[in-house]
Amino acid sequence: MALPKLVVFDLDACCWFPEMYMVRRGPPFTKTSENACAASDGEAIKLLGQTRKVWETISNGDEWQDCRVAVASRCDEPDWARQLLKLFTIDDGRSFWQALDDGRLAEIYKGNKKTHLKALKQKTGVAFEDMLFFDDDQENIRHVSELGVVSVLTPEGVTADAWEQGLRRFMEAKLYERRGGAGPGYGKTYSK
Ligand SMILES: [Mg+2]
Repeated sequence: MALPKLVVFDLDACCWFPEMYMVRRGPPFTKTSENACAASDGEAIKLLGQTRKVWETISNGDEWQDCRVAVASRCDEPDWARQLLKLFTIDDGRSFWQALDDGRLAEIYKGNKKTHLKALKQKTGVAFEDMLFFDDDQENIRHVSELGVVSVLTPEGVTADAWEQGLRRFMEAKLYERRGGAGPGYGKTYSK
């Protein structure tokens, strides 16, 4: 089965909820369970759906050695997001931040998400065609799709359904690419 080499996640309302701009009080954050942290006033920030399991699969799954996890976020409080990424952990005890190559693959700033994805391509050497992207915002999905990245809308966050849909669509795109693009040009890198 064709698997992506880089899976890129939006954070707010995709990996967790509430969105950072909605959080009443900020840090210090504390971890309260595997899937939740609390802000300084006790407000919970919860991982959505299967977020934690999916990050674990990409980071440590048997068939996933060639794939890495990355973040493309435009959230209003980048520093809060970084703090939360350092608190949430996968099964081996490493933080989400560590899973992001010690934060090297966390692109958190304003602007069109094409910029974030281009930066990740630059850093990893992974072609857009080998990436898979999840986001709850239709505009971001549209922009990133234009790069040739399989992009999945996540109205309820990273659920099992969204994950399966992403894998299926990635596999279909690869099959299509192989059939349609077979020949000398197949496998070329695109300079988008
Ligand atoms: Mg979002």
